[in-house]
Amino acid sequence: MNEYDSDKMVDILAGTGTETVVRTDTPEDADIILFNTCSVREKAQEKVFHDLGRVRHLKQLKPGLVIGVGGCVASQEGAAIVARAPYVDIVFGPQTLHRLPELIAARRASGRAQVDVSFPEIEKFDALPPASTTDTMSAAAFVSIMEGCSKYCTFCVVPYTRGEEVSRPFESVLAEIASLAARGVGEITLLGQNVNAYRGAMSCSAGGSAADGAQSDDFADLALLIEAIADMPEIERIRYTTSHPRELTQRLIDIHASTPKLVPHLHLPVQSGSDRILAAMKRGYTVLEYKSLVRKLRIARPELSLSTDFIVGFPGETAEDFEKTMKLIDDVGFDASFSFIYSPRPGTPAADMADDTPQEIKVERLMRLQKRIEELAFAVSQAMVGTVQRVLVEGHARKDAAELAGRTANNRVVNFAGGERLIGQFIDVTITAALPHSLRGEVVIAA
Ligand code: SAM
Repeated sequence: MNEYDSDKMVDILAGTGTETVVRTDTPEDADIILFNTCSVREKAQEKVFHDLGRVRHLKQLKPGLVIGVGGCVASQEGAAIVARAPYVDIVFGPQTLHRLPELIAARRASGRAQVDVSFPEIEKFDALPPASTTDTMSAAAFVSIMEGCSKYCTFCVVPYTRGEEVSRPFESVLAEIASLAARGVGEITLLGQNVNAYRGAMSCSAGGSAADGAQSDDFADLALLIEAIADMPEIERIRYTTSHPRELTQRLIDIHASTPKLVPHLHLPVQSGSDRILAAMKRGYTVLEYKSLVRKLRIARPELSLSTDFIVGFPGETAEDFEKTMKLIDDVGFDASFSFIYSPRPGTPAADMADDTPQEIKVERLMRLQKRIEELAFAVSQAMVGTVQRVLVEGHARKDAAELAGRTANNRVVNFAGGERLIGQFIDVTITAALPHSLRGEVVIAA
């Protein structure tokens, strides 16, 4: 989501027409330096001030330099960022990044720092320009379809920093995807904090009816949106991330069975395998309910690979609770996870809960959990050896620029020998070896 927002900041500045914007990775060359921040965990939040300190001296060298802080830390701290780092010129939230040109202009005209961390809801979606066309090689694109979260899990700052769930209108999403498809994009990833809570307003009735749950009061759900995207012939693959188990409807599960273009991979955050902890987190489901969703998904799509999020060491998590999480991992057979030690976030209910688990125990638990997930993921990779996989070639391999790297439908990176002209194409690759974090393959030569 943050990467997507960073790209949008570039698109917005490039789209103003008043300045030519060239991206640079060298702060010394920049006239505008923007930090896009995340406050989901404390470490990420503290990093912002550390990073700001590293560019502070550039202000003396280039007095016109504009330093801005955006994202969730900006939203949470607001003017306090300028108070702590007075050399910061603008502070904007995830919902006001489209106002960047105005904020920069106001800073330059007034000489005063500008802070806008308001929540103008849908205005952002309306104001965002289409994705820039600079990356013509890319056949994969991210499309943000909803923002924010209304679940208020006790550990999470997102509802306070990004606001409640707001969906982008159905036709506007389809129009963006149609224009991406016309530019050669074949893989779409639909993005949102709880992407399956999508309820996009429809200006006219587009298939389905209130009776089948696809729409009610002229709102389209994610299932209907995926069906409409799958009807576009240029689009070969559809992904969506990240989901909330409470929003995984039977209609969406059925779409996994009926829509081959939807990848056989789903990221479905569970957070814990203990009902006691899930209740304290206010997740709104039990372990049994989560497992029942997985069972239905696997009936719909037997080859489905599942990844998830875990929080280890939530306040009050006992050894017994943690063993339940380990059991859930084996019961479900997760293929990957984003797993972190619980980080208390100011203003969230969990930050006030008693937490007597020593940090070393939490670290030990996290290591054990990650090791088990890696074992399971490696077993899946090994089972792929000898199979032919459809791969979208994303570019050069990270470790060897002479090779190419592509992504399989179940989200694995495959490195293989191949010519530059394959970049951006879907091709078939035979998997020849499984490594701990990638696969090796050989391009299938058409007979
Ligand atoms: N759809 C997701 C869900 O079901 O919760 C929301 C994704 S959330 C924005 C990203 C992930 O960050 C969460 O799934 C959670 O594992 C992690 N996270 C959020 N708050 C955290 C905290 N206070 N400490 C550690 N991890 C946290």
